[in-house]
This record gives sequence, structure tokens and C-alpha cells, in this order.
Amino acid sequence: MTLVEDVYSVEYAKEKDRIDPLRSYRNEFYQNESIYLDGNSLGLLSKRAERSLMNVLESWKSFGIDGWTKGDHPWFYMAQELGRKLAPLVGAEGNEVIVTGSTTTNIHQLVSSFYKPTSNRYKILADDATFPSDIYALQSQLKLKGYDPEEALVKVESNDGLLSEEAIITKMKDDIALILLPSVLYRSGQILDMERLTLEAHKRGIVIGFDLCHSIGSVPHHLNKWGVDFAMWCNYKHLNGGPGAVGGLYVNQKYFGQEPGLAGWFSSRKDVQFNMSHELQADTDAGAYEIGTPHILSMAPLIGSLDMFNEAGIENIRKKSLELTDYMVNLINHELKEYDFVIVSPLDHTKRGAHILLEHKFAASICKALKSNQIIPDFRAPSFIRLGPVALYNTFYDVWKMVHTLKIIMKEEQYKEFENERDVVA
Ligand SMILES: *Cc1c(COP(=O)(O)O)cnc(C)c1O
Repeated sequence: MTLVEDVYSVEYAKEKDRIDPLRSYRNEFYQNESIYLDGNSLGLLSKRAERSLMNVLESWKSFGIDGWTKGDHPWFYMAQELGRKLAPLVGAEGNEVIVTGSTTTNIHQLVSSFYKPTSNRYKILADDATFPSDIYALQSQLKLKGYDPEEALVKVESNDGLLSEEAIITKMKDDIALILLPSVLYRSGQILDMERLTLEAHKRGIVIGFDLCHSIGSVPHHLNKWGVDFAMWCNYKHLNGGPGAVGGLYVNQKYFGQEPGLAGWFSSRKDVQFNMSHELQADTDAGAYEIGTPHILSMAPLIGSLDMFNEAGIENIRKKSLELTDYMVNLINHELKEYDFVIVSPLDHTKRGAHILLEHKFAASICKALKSNQIIPDFRAPSFIRLGPVALYNTFYDVWKMVHTLKIIMKEEQYKEFENERDVVA
């Protein structure tokens, strides 16, 4: 192996791709001519995900109602089957994880199960940089319990898109009953120290959960070892489960036996569910947090997709992901110095998830110019460009090409041909 010396050259990018241990996975994904850097919003379709979806569709065709118990992936057990496949990605036991709901409905389910306010401990702690849906869900959960979110929802303030763990810990006061934080901030890409925050919350008798939407499938977790109480995430970003894929949740086994906040017939122990009794015997593990009939066709792509993650290994995925974002940061600093881009994401990569956030006052027009050059970024209002190179299907060449295209767009002022406003979706 002779690595090319000039790290800014295209030859270097190609050499890195040639020796990449994960390079074979790229061919497993459907891609068009563009360079896709938006896998952190919606992952691409893989051939394995397509196959598992077709397999499940086939069982409907062949078995009708009996598909619940027949075929390669009987529908009645699919949420559990997927939970076991997901468990290594979050560092949990197989029965601590279930595939159900969406991120937002899972926040509702878990907060309604874990938020047990008392007269002097009734507040919820979150942060001002998190995704709006998380905040809306917390506000409605507070209102349902009779509290005014203005008073009872405490938000840690971020600074330039970043949160400090010290500031979070300082806000863990005696009146906080529950904490919900993101693992990786959806804009800046900062990763929070979940282990430390869990330890500090527990010292103060506070339950703590994390929203893993931006870390699942790109960053390893050890939820069980860290003692995290609960977590939820979506499966359509890094996990490539498809638009509207069913989400996932984790509940630490020490809570097994606790009654779910929102119950339905799928919260039942599976062996007695069809007794149709009006007395719910809730499942003894994370299955208790299922509510109604699982959305089978929106789960099926995950079967194939998760096989790929478990085969590739999350530690290997993280290693390449960090190399890709480090490389992107280096190239941006080297090639785009004169164009007023600010890298908002942490430069210390141990503090960073799998994407890079750039700030620029013409971000919206620049994103449109990138798209017209066959490069797919993600725009976040008001002035941010999010770039997520994905370990399983992006290459070092993709990153090189993106930065060099960006340089041409800036040099030739191509972005001026586009309005600096967002379209309806991002
Ligand atoms: C993507 C994302 C969501 C989306 O929630 P859905 O219920 O899946 O629509 C919520 N929270 C965060 C932090 C996200 O990144």
C-alpha cells in the first residue's frame, strides 16, 4: 500500500476508496448519477432491503391472514425479530428493543410511561437546539398531566449550536422529574456524553432518555451498560428503512413489568393476546410498549437493511464515518478558505456524529446550486448546509467532488442564479 502523499489530490481520495474495507457495500445500494449526501435525512434503498420487502409482500400474496404466523418472517413476531437485530446497534439486550411507532409517537409512549410527576418534582428538562417534534410531544405530555409547559419545561440553552454537558448538569435541579435529550444534535452534529449525563441524572434521582435519530446506525451506543432508562429513534435516516419506516425504542430491563403509559392489544403478552380478555397482561419486556397492529410493510425493508449493519459492524462504520467527516473538514478548510463558510460542527471528532454543518448567509441558494450540479445536500433554515457522508455508500471521492464543486459554485458565483429561500421540504 502506497498512500498518495498530497492529501488534497483526487488521487488520494481514490486511493482511500481503493483500500476502504467497507467499499463493497456501495454496490448494494441504488444510486443515480448524483452524489447523495443526505442519508442523515432519508437513507437510500439497498438491494437487501428491497428483497426483504418483496419477501414480506410475497407472504401476503401466498398466505393471506396466515402470513401472521407463516413465511420467512411471520408478521406476529416481526417487531421482536427486528428488535433483536437492532439491539447490537444500541448496546442492549434483544428484549430491551422493539420496532414500533415513530420517533414522535415513541416519545409520547415513553414519556407517558416514565414521567411520574410529584408535587415537588414535576419538571421536564430538554434543550433549545433539539428537533421541534420532540418539544411539541413534551409540551403535550406536560399539558395532559395538568402542567403549563411555559413553567414546567426547562430548556438548556445552546451556544452557537452546541450544548455543554456542564450546563445540562447544572440544570438537573431537585424539581426535574425527567430528562429527554438528543444523542446527536440534528443541526450541529454534536454528540452528547450519554454515559456521563445518565450517571449525573441518576445521582439526582432523575430518569433520563435519549432520542437517537441522528446516531442510530452511525455511532455505537452502550445504552444498557450506561444505564440509560429509555430511548427512541427513527429507522429511515442512517438505517435506510425507507420513507416512513417504523421507528424503534429501548427500555432498560430494570423497568420490565412496569405498565406502559399508552396501552393497546399489542402491548399484551403474545401468548395470551388472542384470549381477547379485557384485563391486559402486558408483555414482560420492551414489547409492552407496542400499541396496535404493527405496520408490517413499513418494517419489512429493515430486515435486509439491519443484516447489512450487523455484518459490516457498527465500530467499522463509525471508523469510516469519522474518516469521511475528518476528510471533509480538512478539504473545506483547505479549498474554501476565502468563501466565508463556518463549520458549526465540533472539530474534535470524538464530539461529533456523522454529519458536518456549514453556515453561510447564502446557504439556501448554495444548496440549490449544489443540486443543479448533481450533489444532494440538506438545507436547514435559516442559513445551514448539512452534509452527511454515509459510511456504507459514500466514498472519499464523493467528498472530494462535493468540496471541489462547491469551490466552483463560489468562484463562479453560480449560487446567485438561485433564490436564497427554502423549498417546501428542506
Ligand atoms: C428525524 C427526527 C424526528 C422525526 O420524528 P418522526 O416521528 O419520525 O417524524 C424527531 N426527532 C429528531 C431528533 C429527529 O432527528
